Amino acid sequence: MKHYQYSLPRTNLIFGEDTLKNLGIEVKKLGKRALLVTGTKSMERFGFLEKTVDSLKKEGLEIVHYSGVAPNPTVEIVNYGAEKALANGCDVVVALGGGSVMDTAKNIAIVAGHSEKEVVSIWEFSGPGGKTREITAKTLPIVAITSTSGTGSHVNRFAVVTNEKTREKTGIMSPFIYPRLSLTDLDILCSMPPSLTARTGFDVLSHVMECFVSKESNSLTGLHCLKAMQLVFNYLPQAYNEGNNIKTREAMALADILAGWALTTSRVILPHALSHAVSAFYPKAEHGLVLAALTPQIMRFNIDRGDEEVIEKHCEIAKMAGGRIISSTKKEAFKSVDAVERLLKKLKLNVTLQNLGVDEKDLEGMVESSFAAMKGPIEANPVSATRKEILHLFKRGME
Ligand code: NDP
Ligand code: MN
Repeated sequence: MKHYQYSLPRTNLIFGEDTLKNLGIEVKKLGKRALLVTGTKSMERFGFLEKTVDSLKKEGLEIVHYSGVAPNPTVEIVNYGAEKALANGCDVVVALGGGSVMDTAKNIAIVAGHSEKEVVSIWEFSGPGGKTREITAKTLPIVAITSTSGTGSHVNRFAVVTNEKTREKTGIMSPFIYPRLSLTDLDILCSMPPSLTARTGFDVLSHVMECFVSKESNSLTGLHCLKAMQLVFNYLPQAYNEGNNIKTREAMALADILAGWALTTSRVILPHALSHAVSAFYPKAEHGLVLAALTPQIMRFNIDRGDEEVIEKHCEIAKMAGGRIISSTKKEAFKSVDAVERLLKKLKLNVTLQNLGVDEKDLEGMVESSFAAMKGPIEANPVSATRKEILHLFKRGME
């Protein structure tokens, strides 16, 4: 049996309907002046921003609002937010939004915690480009209120950031960016429109399929991943069609948390490595859609060249989708790809990179970007892939 060792998250988890009202009581234990990070308008439009502010104010917290965080947040967005936190003496960072907002809040907490007067850029903590500054307990406490069921960012130790200049999108990893408080309010999740439910839901499935097949997977990862796959295959189409159904939102929110934990005990592989490179070149290309364009081709590549264990794991994926698997053979393993493609069709996510506006001339640059910024996930893929093979996978994603 494989040995494993990792630190468990020290996250206080709140989960249920109408939980937002309890926010202030918990945040008060972490700080006095909160930098509240949000996206552009969704949380304001649905009244959740007001509810958040009310709950914080009721407990005497001061609030500095940083709004307008865009999808695929950049180094500049993070650094600017950190300046605001420093200038106002914020001692806790509260995120209300999707993965982009939660990751930005985590990155701001790193920068603000480690800067004196001048802001040290988040890119210096990120890994790519040589020397990396250490992330320590100086990181400000983070509170994550998730408005999507997709990234697992509210329960994991990752924060993604994009460098537009170097065209790299990378994940920063540190135990100090586990949110101290993670709040899931199912009412917020009900506000997601169908297309966002689909895209973010497919992100959850990608996390667990990838972590399961990854070289870094272990028996605990397997438990989390298989259950999460079952939840997604069973409930995502319904969540997509009936956004107000609390039971399906709960199922997807649970799958999202399980996936966040799977990211703690294992690691994503080629689909995430390649998709981050696409987003680095095309910041408007949404994460879930890029994954949808790439995943089936990469699954075929892995099954085709994988060993017995890879075949067996894809048969397990097919089973979680409700497929009947008679024996663990390559032919049966391909049923997992059929199941994923069927799901993508139901969710209207059957897209190509070309549909997303990707130009063939950028593919080679994207290969280099993925090796520079996502080397770990490339190496965790159970089948080793050369630059030429990755270029080929990008090309298949275009078709
Ligand atoms: P985003 O946070 O990027 O949000 C996408 C859009 O959805 C925004 O325009 C936002 O609008 C809107 N939105 C968010 N929530 C709601 C809601 N409840 N109702 C209506 N509209 C809403 O989406 P994701 O959650 O998919 O996050 C993706 C990002 O997370 C990517 O950058 C990805 O790389 C990263 N990621 C991070 C991981 C991690 O472990 N940290 C793992 C996987 C991905 P508005 O701005 O108006 O609020
Ligand atoms: Mn993801």
